[in-house]
Amino acid sequence: MTELTADQDVVRRYLCDQAPGSRVVSARLTETARALVAHQQMPPQVAALCQEMSLAASLLTSCLKFEGEMTIQAKSDGPVSLLVAECTSDGQLRTTAQWDPELSATTFRELVGEGYFAVTVDPKQGERYQGIVALDADSIGGCMNQYFYQSEQLATEMWLAADGTSAGGLLIQRLATEGGHQPTEAAGLDTLKALAHTVLAEELIVDAGPKLVYRLFHELKPRQFEPWPVYFGCSCSKARSARAIRALGAEDVKRLFEDQKEVRVDCHFCGQVYEYDQADLEWLLSDQPPGSDTLQ
Ligand SMILES: [Zn+2]
Repeated sequence: MTELTADQDVVRRYLCDQAPGSRVVSARLTETARALVAHQQMPPQVAALCQEMSLAASLLTSCLKFEGEMTIQAKSDGPVSLLVAECTSDGQLRTTAQWDPELSATTFRELVGEGYFAVTVDPKQGERYQGIVALDADSIGGCMNQYFYQSEQLATEMWLAADGTSAGGLLIQRLATEGGHQPTEAAGLDTLKALAHTVLAEELIVDAGPKLVYRLFHELKPRQFEPWPVYFGCSCSKARSARAIRALGAEDVKRLFEDQKEVRVDCHFCGQVYEYDQADLEWLLSDQPPGSDTLQ
């Protein structure tokens, strides 16, 4: 038998022969965990939260059959006022945050104040769906579990951990019957959950993947499936940033260019900077701006 390893930058599903009707999913981010936050100069505790948000988005995206984008957002009146992570159905991840520069808190409850936690699924075809819960759990994983408890028909639970450098997570979900949303008979689900509850943050960060899943659930005979690779990437473009400027309206755009020679639009997710000078003003104000293919 080949030695079981931890995964790197993939999400992976498992079914257990001795616990039919439920799925186990693991995710571990290494290079991607670092790339997600590399350009953002975040304090380490904020970087770790962003990595956990990204893990949650990737675990959840892997469980849904859809083409499009999933966004997870935590908005609060605390020192970390915003956390966002997005995962596309192609496995592209991005994340960002807003935080108080004087930030010194370390625990989740100190970092994140009163607010809400939202999960949005935006399919290319079909209706957008959003579920919102109050932001009153003690971790990102706790917020996700509250969201599952309140909005999902299928029992789902998630465990997440990150240290600013790597991140690992587990998800356990009761499966739906073929073609329907009725839960299947899930013998062994309670055993799966009880075993998952023993997992330590350090184990998730270091070993998430086949190594951890077989260690935790070997009695239930897990079988692993092909990994789903995830990666850091951003969907920003000059055309999109131009649309954001134009959305201000003609008067405000003019005023913006009166105050400064050049207008810069920074993408918070990836650090890309888009610059516009006086020569761009005309088309920014015109009814028909150049298409994205003509923008440099
Ligand atoms: Zn970007």
